[in-house]
Amino acid sequence: MIFRGRAGNIRATRRHPSGAREPSDPAREDDLKAQLKPAIAPAWSAAESAELYGIKSWGAGYFDLSDDGNVAVSVPFNGARARVALLDIIAGMQQRGLAMPVLLRIENILDAQVSLLNEAFARAMSQLAYGGGYRGVFPIKVNQQCQVIEEIARFGARYGHGLEAGSKAELLIALASMEPASGYIICNGYKDTEFITLGLQALKLGYKCFFVLETPTELPIVLETSRALGIRPMLGVRVKLSARVSGAWNESSGDRSIFGLTTAQIVELIDALKAADMLDCLQLLHYHLGSQIPNIREIRSGVLEAARYYADLRQEGAALGYLDLGGDEYCLDVVEAIMSVLDPQGIAHPTIVTESGRATVAYSSVLLFNILDVTRFEPGQVPPPQPKEHELIGNLRDTLKSVNPRNLQECYNDALYYRGEIRDLFKRGQIRLRELSLAENIFLEIVSTIVRRLGDVKRKPPGLDGLEQSLSDIYYGNFSVFQSLPDVWAIDQVFPIMPVHRHTEQPTRQAIIADITCDSDGKIDQFIGSRGIRKTLPVHPLVDGEPYYLGVFLVGAYQETLGDLHNLMGDTNVVSVRINEDGTFDFVREMSGDSIADVLSYVEYQPQSLLEQFRKTAEQAVREGRVSVAERQAVLESFAASLRGYTYYED
Ligand SMILES: *Cc1c(COP(=O)(O)O)cnc(C)c1O
Repeated sequence: MIFRGRAGNIRATRRHPSGAREPSDPAREDDLKAQLKPAIAPAWSAAESAELYGIKSWGAGYFDLSDDGNVAVSVPFNGARARVALLDIIAGMQQRGLAMPVLLRIENILDAQVSLLNEAFARAMSQLAYGGGYRGVFPIKVNQQCQVIEEIARFGARYGHGLEAGSKAELLIALASMEPASGYIICNGYKDTEFITLGLQALKLGYKCFFVLETPTELPIVLETSRALGIRPMLGVRVKLSARVSGAWNESSGDRSIFGLTTAQIVELIDALKAADMLDCLQLLHYHLGSQIPNIREIRSGVLEAARYYADLRQEGAALGYLDLGGDEYCLDVVEAIMSVLDPQGIAHPTIVTESGRATVAYSSVLLFNILDVTRFEPGQVPPPQPKEHELIGNLRDTLKSVNPRNLQECYNDALYYRGEIRDLFKRGQIRLRELSLAENIFLEIVSTIVRRLGDVKRKPPGLDGLEQSLSDIYYGNFSVFQSLPDVWAIDQVFPIMPVHRHTEQPTRQAIIADITCDSDGKIDQFIGSRGIRKTLPVHPLVDGEPYYLGVFLVGAYQETLGDLHNLMGDTNVVSVRINEDGTFDFVREMSGDSIADVLSYVEYQPQSLLEQFRKTAEQAVREGRVSVAERQAVLESFAASLRGYTYYED
């Protein structure tokens, strides 16, 4: 039997411990209170929740739990930290009429990550007496949103942090967002004459704009355009990695990598540049390690290979001064590895460039949504046997009675068998719906009894793997996986997700999360726990009349523009906050999500003509006497209001 609905208030049961009380004289009452104190104090603490959800391991210090049970954002200020509860930010959103779901951006975190990266390299370089400098660039494709790029450009200027552009559109963003002197612009991706012309003209304005050659065919276009404009380019070359890496993106390494030039193509490039008297234009070596490399040994081996290319290209006469390594973690090892190759050959240390995307922006965004409803898979009370019950139902009852720790697998198999038989009888019209429903209920009671007993056995029968999950709740969230968490659906990415409040109560339910797209892929059923991936998320029972909010964390990279309009769920509302040193916060930017009219126009409908068409239908109904004029007005107003409305569930 499936129960859909809201559960009782767990607070009410815990705050009133059972046991007789004798309310007599006040002194005794106080005594009694003192005695009861341990029972009244919450049986669950925020610290236990912190452990359960692993927030310390993925929160990077930006997210933690306050003692009063709230997930808080914590950002650094001159050695100290300022903290704000997400629930307080949600309250601020509500006051401003911004409905759930909302994508929350925390600008301080973006700034902090840019600082962290630049300062980590600065520290490593000074510690190792490295002769070159460091320049980070943010790959625009990781989050192209104007608010994000503007903030990186503004805050990053103090470090000379630049942007990486992989297309013409992204080059336009880079040029418009940065001052010429503030940082580098690294152009990757296929480049046509228009792209190259603009980049060369930007050089004239003082931008340090590198073209990274990814294929041999780009060179003639660059040479021709630069000759025609009389501007010498700043060139880079991307080499194919031979060091194979084992991370998620291993297709981007090895001989079959789709990116970069082979050694033969590099030799041809050098000869062609020499012939054109432009070898001095080749200044940057691009060797993208990717940020998904799981271990330091592979990073080191990649960097060593890159440094070898660098040294040999220098020996060939290229005026290299920049080594672009794509990824960025483990900066001490990276710097050290480069020096270990170049120092013996007396080659000056290059400016190290990295293109850190995910790590720069992931932490700064949180998707917040409310839970709309719950489905529980729980047996109802099993009624006592009736006189003329079908024999198979009796068999199920016997199975239920016989469950014990030694026969769990056997009981489960029996229950499955009897239920199958009963379902067949129903299909053949030999039993009625009420009998089938009774059988299903006893079956569910057997399964939940088995699941309870599983806790008592040392070795779980392998055939019962996943049985617990089959009983977990479904929590329906007001969001779309396809729009807001496309990587959950496309590449099974696991994002940290947890309730943002009520962590002084034990989360007693286990759930998977379904979205509101009514698509069977619109769900989240893998979660981060303190000990690896888990199949259900611990959550609290809903309390009638109280909203329940979940946050999905680390969603600042890639999720926004990869999202799609599945079921015509549009962009969510977006809010950027800045946390102040005194623990207050400001709403610095707000963007309303798509209205229904917006998403309809994306798929080529004209909202105005839809309304016109519908008006004609309604008018016809008036003519035929099926509705009154007032009713016509009411339905047209509903239609128009829906066009203006949010695509998500509105209260
Ligand atoms: C996507 C991309 C990056 C960013 O990689 P992350 O894994 O997000 O850090 C860097 N450089 C290039 C060329 C890219 O295409």
